[in-house]
Amino acid sequence: MPTQYDYIVIGGGSGGLATAQRAVEYGARVAIIEPGRLGGTCVNVGCVPKKLMWNAASLGHGLADAAGYGFDVELRGHDWAALKAGRDAYVARLNGIYAANLEKKGIDWVRAAARFTGPRTVSVGGGELAAPQVTIATGGRPTVPAIPGSELGITSDGFFALETRPRRVAIVGSGYIAVELAGAFAGLGSQVSVVVRHEGVLRHFDSMVGAALAREMAADGIELVTHAVPKALTADGATRTLHLEDGRAIGPYDCVLWAIGREPLSADLGLDAAGVTTVGGFIVTDHLQDTNVAGVHAIGDVTGRAPLTPVAIAAGRRLSDRLFGGKPDRHLDYNLIPTVIFSHPPIGTVGLSEAEARALHHDAVRTYTASFVPMYHALTPHKRRAEMKLVCVGPEERVVGLHVIGAGADEMLQGFAVALKMGARKRDLDDTIAIHPTAAEELVTMR
Ligand SMILES: Cc1cc2nc3c(=O)[nH]c(=O)nc-3n(C[C@H](O)[C@H](O)[C@H](O)COP(=O)(O)OP(=O)(O)OC[C@H]3O[C@@H](n4cnc5c(N)ncnc54)[C@H](O)[C@@H]3O)c2cc1C
Repeated sequence: MPTQYDYIVIGGGSGGLATAQRAVEYGARVAIIEPGRLGGTCVNVGCVPKKLMWNAASLGHGLADAAGYGFDVELRGHDWAALKAGRDAYVARLNGIYAANLEKKGIDWVRAAARFTGPRTVSVGGGELAAPQVTIATGGRPTVPAIPGSELGITSDGFFALETRPRRVAIVGSGYIAVELAGAFAGLGSQVSVVVRHEGVLRHFDSMVGAALAREMAADGIELVTHAVPKALTADGATRTLHLEDGRAIGPYDCVLWAIGREPLSADLGLDAAGVTTVGGFIVTDHLQDTNVAGVHAIGDVTGRAPLTPVAIAAGRRLSDRLFGGKPDRHLDYNLIPTVIFSHPPIGTVGLSEAEARALHHDAVRTYTASFVPMYHALTPHKRRAEMKLVCVGPEERVVGLHVIGAGADEMLQGFAVALKMGARKRDLDDTIAIHPTAAEELVTMR
C-alpha cells in the first residue's frame, strides 16, 4: 500500500518549497520529494551564489573607482578560494534553514528521485506515495551542445564549483546567464570572451539594454566574438580551443563555459505512466498550473514559462491557495513580470520591449529615453553611462514597458513594476516628485 498524503510535491526548489509550505498552512498532509540539496537551482547554483559573485565583482569595480574619491588603495589581489568558501558556507546555512523549516512545519522530506507509477502515485526509492494532488516542480538544467568535446567545457553549475579563477575564459551564449557570469569573471580579473551566434547580447530584451551592455562590456575589456557557432572543443593539456563552424579556431582558454540555455528536467519522471503531456520536455499547463491530468499540476522552470524564482514561488503559493485554501480562482498572472540582469552595470526591465510594443500597437507606441553619466561617476576615472526607456501606448500613454541599464537599476525596478501593474500612465510618472540626486529621478522627468 502506498503511503497516503493530501499533497505530493516533486522537487524541493523555489516552486516546490513554496507550494508545500503554503499547503501545510491550510492543514494539508504534505510530502516533498527532493534527492538533492533543498533550495534547488536558485539557492545552490543560481540566484544566490550568483548574486554573491556579482557583489564581489561590484566591489572590484568600486575599488578601481575609489581613488577618485580620495582613497589610497593598494590592491594586493583577490582570494577566489576564500570567496568560494564563504559563499558555500552561506548556501549550506540556507540549506539547513530550509530543512529546519520543513521539519518545524511537519512536511515530510523524502530524499529520493520521484517517478510516476500512475496519475497520482509516485515511486521513491523502494517505496510508493499516493495523493489526490501532485505537483511537479523539478526545474531544469543547463544545456550542453551536442558537439565533439563539449564535455571539456563547464556550465553554470560548474562555475560555482570552480576552486580557482581561470585566467582566460570563453563563455558561449548571449543570454542573461552568459553576461552575468562574464561580468563576474571579468570583475574579478579574468580575461573574458563572450562567444555569440549573432551580433550582440540579450537579444530577447529591449535592444537598448543589449547595445548599452555590449558597450560597457567592451569598456571592461570583455571581448565579444560574433557570428560564432561552435563546432568542436579540443584540449591541449589544461587549455581549450573552440572551433567554429566558419573555420575559425579561438583560444587558448583555461575554461570554456556553455551558457546556451536550459532544458526541463522531466525525462526521468515517468510522465507516460501518469499520462502528462509535454512539449519539448516542458510540462504543458493552463492558467491554473493544471496539466492535462486531473490532480496533476506543474510550476516553475519545468513548465517553460518565465523561468525565474519569484515566478515559481508565486505560482506555487497561488496553486496551494486554490487547492487547499478555498480560493478557487487564485492563479498567477504572467503579465508584467519584472526582472533584473546582474551584469555590470545591472539591468532592470519590466513589460514590453519597444519592438514587442510596436508589433502589437504599431503607431500608437511612443517612447521616451534618457542617456546620461550618473553622478557617482563625476569623480571616477571610468564613466559608465546609464540608459533608460519608457514604452508608452495610446493617447493616454499607458506605460507598457520600462527598461533601465545603469548603477542602481537592480533596486530601482521593483517599485516601478508596482506602478506598471497598477496601470501607470506617463503623466502619473510626471506627477511624481523626483528624488534628487538619484539616477531613478530620470524616470519621472523624461520629456
Ligand atoms: C546561474 C543562474 C542564475 C539565476 N539567477 C536568477 C536570478 O537572479 N533571479 C531569478 O529570479 N532567477 C534566477 N535563476 C533562475 C532560478 O534559479 C529558477 O527560475 C528557479 O530556481 C526555478 O525554480 P523551480 O522550483 O522551478 O526549480 P529548481 O529550483 O531548479 O528546483 C527543482 C528541484 O527539483 C529536483 N528534482 C529534479 N528531478 C527530480 C525528481 N525526479 N524527483 C524529485 N526531485 C527532483 C531538483 O533536484 C531541484 O532541487 C537563475 C538560474 C541560474 C541557472
